[in-house]
Amino acid sequence: MSEEILGTTKICTKCGAEKPLEEFGRKASHKDGHASQCLECSREYDRERAKDPERRQANIERSREWYEQNKDTPELKEYRHKYAIDHSEEAKVRAKEWYYNNKERSLAHGREWAKSHPGKVKESRRKWKENNKEWYEEYYSRPEVKEHMRKKAYEYSHTEKNTAYRKRYRQENKEQIKAYKTNRMKKDPIFNLRIRVSRLVGITLRQRNYSKNTRTYKIIGLQYPELWAYLERTWLENYGTKWNGESYDIDHIRPLSSASTEQELFALWNWQNLQLLSHDDNMNKLDKLNWGPPKESIAHGRIKVENGKRILLI
Ligand SMILES: [Zn+2]
Repeated sequence: MSEEILGTTKICTKCGAEKPLEEFGRKASHKDGHASQCLECSREYDRERAKDPERRQANIERSREWYEQNKDTPELKEYRHKYAIDHSEEAKVRAKEWYYNNKERSLAHGREWAKSHPGKVKESRRKWKENNKEWYEEYYSRPEVKEHMRKKAYEYSHTEKNTAYRKRYRQENKEQIKAYKTNRMKKDPIFNLRIRVSRLVGITLRQRNYSKNTRTYKIIGLQYPELWAYLERTWLENYGTKWNGESYDIDHIRPLSSASTEQELFALWNWQNLQLLSHDDNMNKLDKLNWGPPKESIAHGRIKVENGKRILLI
């Protein structure tokens, strides 16, 4: 081997550039111990050669073979482990992309996995929920999300299988359900209201041969908790005292008998046309529009009356 003197240069036979010796690959058979082409040129040569399709294929196969033979060695295992850690962010992005590009397959795979790992899904959901409590609470309190969840639950519970199942369940448990309803109606004024109102809406529509295929709360224009809050205030307005579990009638300020079309009937079921009255008062009122308990009690409620319409002040 010849001696290497620092600062010595050599001319590349390929590109003709004069470069320091260390920029030439080592080659023991050469006089100066270095290749005749500079590193840059020989790399370029290798790159060009590698582009040849046959060589390329051969290279790929060689690598694959080598990998197959060596993949279980501790070195490669360690390498894979380290690689996964170092590239976890990219892997996450890739996985996400793959998920969106293969959504059907992803979902199917997820379902399969869930089937073969009972309980795991629930457990990981619970954990996730716990770790993201704030976000979770904020997200699920958004009105649009609430509405979406409600729709989903409704769709799910009204699939053919579920409808059939519930029908059978109702038939087989008639007495228990009845007892449950009666009991809950006594204890839960909103539940009580829901049952009564939806029954009443159904009856008044059917009496006129209109079919009820709109959800009751949509006809009313308020969800039941809000409707109940409003109706409680009409009681306060009408009687000057807070409703205290007394029996009541749901009265239509403009009577339902004044409706001549389905649309008009729907309009009369709107929350703004409803009030709570004691049963006796309701009987006295009948269809009289100008009936009313002493008006000074309005001051107690948080309801404004404008052009005969009640407006809920929140
Ligand atoms: Zn060169």
